[in-house]
Amino acid sequence: MSLQIPLSFPVFKGSENLYTQQAISSGHIATFGSFINKFESKLSRRLKSHECVALNSGTSALHLAMVLLGIGAGDEVICQSFTFCASANPIVYLGASPIFVDSEKSSWNICPEILEDTILSRISKGKKPKAIVVVHLFGMPAKMREIMEISTKYNIPILEDAAEAVGSKYLDKSCGTFGEIGVFSFNGNKIITSGGGGALISDDTALIQRAKHLSTQAREDLPYYHHLEIGYNFKMNNLAASIGLAQLEQLDSFIRKRRAINANYRSLLKDFVGISFQTEGKESKSNYWLTAILIDKEKTGFSNNQLRNSLMKKGIESRFLWKPLHTQPIFNKTSYYGGSLSEKLFENGLCLPSSVNLSFQDQEMIVEIMHEELSKTFK
Ligand SMILES: *Cc1c(COP(=O)(O)O)cnc(C)c1O
Repeated sequence: MSLQIPLSFPVFKGSENLYTQQAISSGHIATFGSFINKFESKLSRRLKSHECVALNSGTSALHLAMVLLGIGAGDEVICQSFTFCASANPIVYLGASPIFVDSEKSSWNICPEILEDTILSRISKGKKPKAIVVVHLFGMPAKMREIMEISTKYNIPILEDAAEAVGSKYLDKSCGTFGEIGVFSFNGNKIITSGGGGALISDDTALIQRAKHLSTQAREDLPYYHHLEIGYNFKMNNLAASIGLAQLEQLDSFIRKRRAINANYRSLLKDFVGISFQTEGKESKSNYWLTAILIDKEKTGFSNNQLRNSLMKKGIESRFLWKPLHTQPIFNKTSYYGGSLSEKLFENGLCLPSSVNLSFQDQEMIVEIMHEELSKTFK
């Protein structure tokens, strides 16, 4: 059965067709072309004092960021456990080990107190972590003030995985611009898409230059191919950048729409006992890429999976939250610090449809299905 209401579906109502046509007509569809430059400069302008390099995925942006932070074999890197595997996989690509840390209950992102305990514990074991990977899940900013303080106190750089938080703000500053390096994703279901793509962000011009060099096979500026170090084929192509630019021009309207969708869910569900949301602190402004809820089964009588199945029967897609990485078979030999919060979030959470073109009637229907579930259990 085809889905009538997908979780998060892209909308192409801007200049996508025009720009891709222009890219094709120019003959430049690979890693050289004017749309790459336009995309990078438009994104950089949004980030104020920061610059960016456009890459072919968020995962390669994280991988390159870790190369630039000097992470290598035998190192330890702290990473939020409650996230997508791509936040941590590059640690393993480089021969380093992830050390996973639990979340805190308001933003659902890395818990500053447990982070500090983790650093102290690793230092006492004789190994100071090389970096801290912080994620802004579903667009919700992490507790950056506290996390930055810890980073400064122990002199450990932050790598900000803002893959889901393009356009989110904290203290009126863009997510992705707090860490030594930040990363965005423009994959198909993110708030803006270039088909596949990512960006690496920094306020250090030399570092951005180096990222550009390394992401294009570290080719020296000579008439023949000459290489002084191992590079990567990570650059975004011009065709992807043409779509990305058109999407970037619509980012503010997409954020307004996704925030309105979140506000509608909150008001439609405000008297629904047992349903709660991520907390947006007063310093935070989430892009609300996805609206996620927690279901207290004791109060609602239905679990996240029961609701997921009932929605699916009506052609409505919803999705589990990220399964904590410390519980993933691929990471079963890694260290974990914290309690059971991230596991509880996974066990009780569900992401609701949040596409830009979701109508208010769709949202009412979704909430109606939740009421039907509730009456089934308490009739
Ligand atoms: C999507 C995502 C990534 C990876 O981005 P890709 O562009 O798909 O490689 C990394 N981290 C998080 C938290 C993501 O949601």
